[in-house]
Amino acid sequence: MSIGVAFEIALGSLERNVALEVKLAGCALCESAERMQKLCAAMRANDKAQALDLRDAGLSDGALQQLVAALATGAMPALSRLDTRGNPGLGAAAATLLHGLRRLRPKVGVVLAGADSEDGGLSADTDVFACSRELLEGLTAWPTFELVEKQGANDLRCPVCNSATLKPGKITSGGNQHRCESENGCGSYFLQTIGIGDLTLIGLRRRPPG
Ligand SMILES: [Zn+2]
Repeated sequence: MSIGVAFEIALGSLERNVALEVKLAGCALCESAERMQKLCAAMRANDKAQALDLRDAGLSDGALQQLVAALATGAMPALSRLDTRGNPGLGAAAATLLHGLRRLRPKVGVVLAGADSEDGGLSADTDVFACSRELLEGLTAWPTFELVEKQGANDLRCPVCNSATLKPGKITSGGNQHRCESENGCGSYFLQTIGIGDLTLIGLRRRPPG
């Protein structure tokens, strides 16, 4: 089956608005501008699909920007999983775009570019937390004010295990590091960005005990 035929089949699946998962894996979406236009139009008309598989789909940052723009303006309201693995054309802008998408569509879990196997990049720890969103190192972030344990105090609750207080660590040029290192903590560590004040997950460690 040619890539063009595979794309038309996937597009038809989106347009029929019945399937829960639409697979565009390997569809060379950037081969023509028309392909991306058709895809975004079909996404806007789809309110059934919960998963969009864009693995190895030749995505560029520009193409991802179009997809995120469609999703950010309400396309595919049922979507809960977006798989962008295996797209080497995605660069630094992709992380920013997906970060923005997380804010606008918090229910959409993104499986990030770069992880190449089914569980690559996402450790087994993730299944504990995967109910609402995927935890992605370097991408998943929380507004710091949501994590303050007590009014007026500086202590932050660990947003991964929810059972421990974060310990402040090194101050780097990128921001302040925090680590969940108490006895019942999960060991994950974070960077609190200067300016935005978001707490970004840097390293996911072990499953919290119990
Ligand atoms: Zn923790």
